[in-house]
Amino acid sequence: MKIIMLGAPGAGKGTQAKQIAAKYNIPHVSTGDIFRANIKEGTALGMEAKSYMDKGQLVPDELTVKILLDRVAKDDCKNGYVLDGFPRTIPQAEVLDEAVTKLSEKIDYAINVDVPDENIIRRMSGRRACVKCGATYHIVNVPPKKEGICDACGEALIVRDDDKEETVKARLATYHEQTQPLIDYYSAKGILKEVDGTKDMNDVFADIVAILG
Ligand code: ADP
Ligand code: AMP
Repeated sequence: MKIIMLGAPGAGKGTQAKQIAAKYNIPHVSTGDIFRANIKEGTALGMEAKSYMDKGQLVPDELTVKILLDRVAKDDCKNGYVLDGFPRTIPQAEVLDEAVTKLSEKIDYAINVDVPDENIIRRMSGRRACVKCGATYHIVNVPPKKEGICDACGEALIVRDDDKEETVKARLATYHEQTQPLIDYYSAKGILKEVDGTKDMNDVFADIVAILG
């Protein structure tokens, strides 16, 4: 099964994608996680990506597409994947379509996690992330057992540089301008599914499972 998660930054794409990956036994592929791992390792790719991420802008398509195509070409993606944070532009979606069509395959679902902008800023200011294993917490909604420490791997949790309020506002503007058009793009292909992302995260997941079967 090949699934795309759509939604504004902070809508809960990663939270849901991790659960989908576990239940359906497919890898969770997050371009944001790949960039953050590169930033942590200090690679040239990480440095370049960071210059855009810190401004709330998208990393250029050319760079992002290559990373994604390399990742989904790996063996563990043979039976499908759940993409979180890709595609974010129409050209990215077109490249992905081309790549899956070449393999005589298709994207099965594009799930839009719908959350209004008002809720987003509140969510992002409470987000805490583990750069080592990719786990995500929220200081109120999903607190770790021990403050500031990842339950899964024991690493110190961070506040993402791009979760500052000004950057979140820039990311929302970027989202509306460049990513939201993908809702119509996948709707026209007949694979768009909408879920209400303002619900409790377990209820959002139940709604997604009802769609995926
Ligand atoms: P995205 O991957 O779309 O950027 P995340 O999955 O990282 O978003 O979620 C953003 C923040 O909101 C995290 O701190 C997460 O724990 C929290 N969160 C996710 N889903 C919900 C929900 N349904 N209700 C409340 N908080 C949520
Ligand atoms: P995320 O972790 O998905 O919220 O992504 C964090 C940041 O990484 C985004 O704000 C972008 O700057 C960059 N990024 C992640 N995925 C993409 C993508 N598909 N296209 C362009 N930039 C991306």
